[in-house]
Amino acid sequence: MSTIAAIATAQAAAGLGTIKISGENALAVADSVFSAVSGKKVYDTPGYRALYGKVHDGETVLDDAVVLVFRAPRSYTGEDVVEISCHGGLFILKRVLRAVLNAGAEPAEGGEFTKRAFLNGKMDLSEAEAVMSLISASGEEARAATLNALDGALSREIAECRDKLALTAAFMAAWVDYPDDEIPELSDDEMNRTLTDVSERLEKLLSGFDAGKAVLEGIDTAIVGKPNVGKSTLLNALAGSERAIVTSVAGTTRDVLEETVRVGNITLRLADTAGIRENTDDIIEKIGVERAKERFDRASLVLMVLDAQNEFSEDDKALLLMCSKKNTVVIINKTDGDIKLSADELKKYTAAPIVEMSAKNRAGIDELTKAVENVVGTAGFDPSAPLITTERQRNCVMKASENIREALDGLSFGITPDAINVCIDCAIENLSVLTGEKATETVVTEVFKNFCVGK
Ligand code: GDP
Repeated sequence: MSTIAAIATAQAAAGLGTIKISGENALAVADSVFSAVSGKKVYDTPGYRALYGKVHDGETVLDDAVVLVFRAPRSYTGEDVVEISCHGGLFILKRVLRAVLNAGAEPAEGGEFTKRAFLNGKMDLSEAEAVMSLISASGEEARAATLNALDGALSREIAECRDKLALTAAFMAAWVDYPDDEIPELSDDEMNRTLTDVSERLEKLLSGFDAGKAVLEGIDTAIVGKPNVGKSTLLNALAGSERAIVTSVAGTTRDVLEETVRVGNITLRLADTAGIRENTDDIIEKIGVERAKERFDRASLVLMVLDAQNEFSEDDKALLLMCSKKNTVVIINKTDGDIKLSADELKKYTAAPIVEMSAKNRAGIDELTKAVENVVGTAGFDPSAPLITTERQRNCVMKASENIREALDGLSFGITPDAINVCIDCAIENLSVLTGEKATETVVTEVFKNFCVGK
């Protein structure tokens, strides 16, 4: 395979920046652009050692640099890898990369280092996907969960399920194929137990998907409510800044403001949609600019804000109805003054959780956090549990789960063991696609397509 190189650190001015080189000529390429102060050659340096010196392009000295050597197979990609760390100016990094390419390396494609790690058996496909999630992790729990996946928590869970299925299938096949060899028959009970156990484990993975996705990727959230109920103030309270324009003139929030905030263990991508006007026949039509409506449709979570200091109106009722099909938390804001609307009264109109708060005084944010975590399903999120993190993985688990259900149905209807074995084999196959052992070239390409260059 060719020797590849890329800038592995952020494309921005920084204290340090790193160029990564991987492939069978990595050490020789590094020697062409780097001279150690000690006079040692990269080629003669054992793995896990560093050299200090100058990086140059021909006669031109480019920068001071530290070179780190990793020897195959004990490296990220499983190949010889050299990392050249120099000053992190973008110009310097590009200049060093050019020197490295001039010395014979080829520019790496997005995700090519990780793809090589996968192809060299350093990680399976689900772990490679975790690399991607880890890079974009936006909070402590997301980081812990993806690192856990990278450590192989999901791979181990899948392997255990697959081993159990394989053992059952092997037993049955042997029993069917060699009836004279006195292979003990697997009892239906035993088989049922194994299949049910695997089925439950797969179902658990599936049910954790949405919560995991919310923790890892965040969730599109719309703040809705009549003008002046305190939507912008709430947004500011959550964001901890004065981004949205707060004013007491009704209808000031004309467009959709987007803000990313952390609420408990999730990132909310919040949109403060334009306020609706009172006294209108068609509230949904009047919700404001088209974008706000689109944003509402796209939202997986709605924060519906009401004003505790105003009577509950027909508009509010209509808005509640509009939110009834979405995961919603109803907020009664402005509880710091004269209260005309209570949670008790509101319970008649909605089944959604109701939080009383004062956005202005930042009071009630903890209650709001709890309500949001409950509604989104992340309240009991356990970052150490195995987690499926991509639609591709989910699809594989869903198919495998379906296969097991068919096998269980077959068992209860008393169909022949070889027919049940076909279902079990399909489940094993689908789980092998998940970890990449049976993934096609197209699937592998698809997985690495979205990776950044240098990873
Ligand atoms: P929006 O139109 O829904 O975005 O409402 P704003 O956030 O612009 O707030 C409208 C007015 O209500 C402003 O004068 C805020 O200061 C006030 N307000 C917002 N939240 C509270 C609150 O919790 N208590 C009180 N007393 N006033 C609030």
